[in-house]
Amino acid sequence: MRTNEENVELANLLFPDVTDTVDDIFSKYPKRNIPDEAMVLRFAPSPTGFMHIGNVYTGLICTRLAKQSNGISILRIEDTDKEREVEKGVSMIVNGLRGFGVVFDEGMVDEEVGVGAYGPYIQSQRLEIYKVFAKQMVSKGLAYPCFLTLDELENIREEQEKSSLRTGCYGKWAKWRDASLSEIKERLEKKEKFVIRLYSTGNIENSFAMKDLVKGGVTLRENDMDAVLIKSDGFPTYHFAHPIDDTLMGITHVIRGDEWFSSVPLHYELFEKLDFKQLPYGHVSPLMKSEEGKKRKLSKRKDPEAAVSYYVERGYPKEGVLEYLLNIANSNFYDWRVQNKERSLDEFRLRIEKFNNAGALFDITKLNDICKEYIATLSAEEVYERVLEWALSFDTDTAKVLEENKDYCIKIFNIEREGSKVRKDMVKYQDAKDLLSIFFNSTFAESEVEDISDRVDKNLQEKIVEEYTKIFDIADNLDMWFGKIKNLAEKLECKPGDVAMVLRVALTHRTKTPDLYQIVQVMGNNIVEERLEAYAKSL
Ligand code: GLU
Repeated sequence: MRTNEENVELANLLFPDVTDTVDDIFSKYPKRNIPDEAMVLRFAPSPTGFMHIGNVYTGLICTRLAKQSNGISILRIEDTDKEREVEKGVSMIVNGLRGFGVVFDEGMVDEEVGVGAYGPYIQSQRLEIYKVFAKQMVSKGLAYPCFLTLDELENIREEQEKSSLRTGCYGKWAKWRDASLSEIKERLEKKEKFVIRLYSTGNIENSFAMKDLVKGGVTLRENDMDAVLIKSDGFPTYHFAHPIDDTLMGITHVIRGDEWFSSVPLHYELFEKLDFKQLPYGHVSPLMKSEEGKKRKLSKRKDPEAAVSYYVERGYPKEGVLEYLLNIANSNFYDWRVQNKERSLDEFRLRIEKFNNAGALFDITKLNDICKEYIATLSAEEVYERVLEWALSFDTDTAKVLEENKDYCIKIFNIEREGSKVRKDMVKYQDAKDLLSIFFNSTFAESEVEDISDRVDKNLQEKIVEEYTKIFDIADNLDMWFGKIKNLAEKLECKPGDVAMVLRVALTHRTKTPDLYQIVQVMGNNIVEERLEAYAKSL
């Protein structure tokens, strides 16, 4: 056992450059001047280069709850795992969230830039801060340097497994916790690598109660692991950075992913040893997927729809995605929506205690339905603007078509968009491409002609097209249009549906399209005549 004086000497040896005290650090992070009920929340992703739709979900929850309480939301980047980091990872997160309207009051706004008085908001720029706290802990005998090598750790693990014991660095296995100062000095002189570990005083036999904001009351076992606080590269672990950052930044509630729930006992011990006020936790379950009757996590590896890029690249309307995410976050959202059809999403009050504890089920079919409903509420001009915005990033050919034919495209998007029964066939802006392709000769020419000769034989098709060409008049109103189709069917002794089908395929190459009369009106006389003639020839 080292004496108090020896621990102070050890702290100075380990951190000779650290001259600030914990009080010096606290003086740079004054208490926030906010109302009592205001929540200060942070979303703290790691820049791994992959944005999971669950990130948007958690980010949305965090910004929403903060805003509702007149509080503050913070985007903090946790980049302490250098191996998992990718270039431009921060911008990917910032832009990915911004694309869905998830914007924070403080924190990173760009790859390098953070706004707010409680930064830096990127952990790799906070290393000096963590060292101050680590130094203090070592000097008080609450943390110590550990020189166990990877091989030694592996041997410990094997031994523990052989004896059916819990694995990890705890109790007698934590070989360096009570090492003498001279033993430690010897290793330091040899420049051996070390980590700083917590000197745990917890007892796994003891339990304690905590109230999770999402899960409710739970009983947990104390921590007894000498967890790593500072890695050998000088970076903190998540466990160490979390209490320090959240305390300094004035966070009021830690809302985070369920995967951290098992670390709560360790975090409780760290808050205590750091002499910090314990913050309340709310552990949000991950998004789940139902597969063959079983629920599993929505997986980055197995499910393409887990990636934020899936929605961005296809041009999903952000309003639809957000509406869906609120829907699965709080089960009462649906009832609220039914009663408040016209109200903005911002007016819905999210409640932590209503989160689904078992994991919200993510169902892309439902999300698609909500997006369809949403796009159906837009005007043709709005659809045009949104589709163009999407196409400029993801489909430059379509963007060109849209820019060069603005009025025509708006007319196309207006088909079945007015009146009480709006067509709901567009889930995402990418779907516009399919509709547009009917109207432009270049894409139309390339499209495959659906074969309807089983239903209407070719001779009859030919007659229909020939006769119809004689009577077609673009100026006809809807009744006249139907009247002509009916008369022609009588004359040729076939069904009006057959006539319409032949015209539909002749004009669009498809058997299923929006309203044919409206299509014809938008196409105009010349295109209709050209296509009828070309179809007749092809028969
Ligand atoms: N960086 C951690 C993660 O991405 C954050 C956890 C937290 O929110 O505290 O899982």
